[in-house]
Amino acid sequence: MYRVRLFAVRHARRFEWLYGRFEAFMAACDPLFSRLGYARVERPVAFVERLTKGFLFDCRMCGQCALSSTGMSCPMNCPKQLRNGPCGGVRAGGYCEVIPEMRCVWTLAWEGAARMRNGGGIHEVAPPVDRSLEGTSSWLRASREKAAARREAREAGRTALARAYPGARASEPATAPLADEPAR
Ligand code: SF4
Repeated sequence: MYRVRLFAVRHARRFEWLYGRFEAFMAACDPLFSRLGYARVERPVAFVERLTKGFLFDCRMCGQCALSSTGMSCPMNCPKQLRNGPCGGVRAGGYCEVIPEMRCVWTLAWEGAARMRNGGGIHEVAPPVDRSLEGTSSWLRASREKAAARREAREAGRTALARAYPGARASEPATAPLADEPAR
């Protein structure tokens, strides 16, 4: 719905906050999703995602959500489906050249991003859409990636500690006082 879409852009900052919490919740569900099998939860989660985001953002289920870096304005609603915009055809007042009665998705994106923290990352160049992911849940993908990154960071921390330990033992001062052995 077009009006709800405009509402989402006007409240981009709140949606950004909400999305952050939701993403953390989904990432916390990773052990559960892993146990059930990501392939098994894909369909029900994608169904809920389609309904929710379809209502709020006119989501087209591209599978690689960019909302957090496009001011909560879905770039797939651009008739040219540009992932970096706007194009050179924006009309006076920020309207689309293909659908003249619609505000350009990318003018809205810049407005929404200005309301978000650090400009919503809109200045970063986005990669082209991977059509093979169409129809899949980007919620699941994002939370899975986040959980995997956390696991990797934890693992790297442990490895670094394990590597540092022998070095620390070797450079320990030989004169370091030893603790008294406890009485038997
Ligand atoms: S960027 Fe993709 S997943 Fe995100 S709202 Fe638009 S179509 Fe849906």
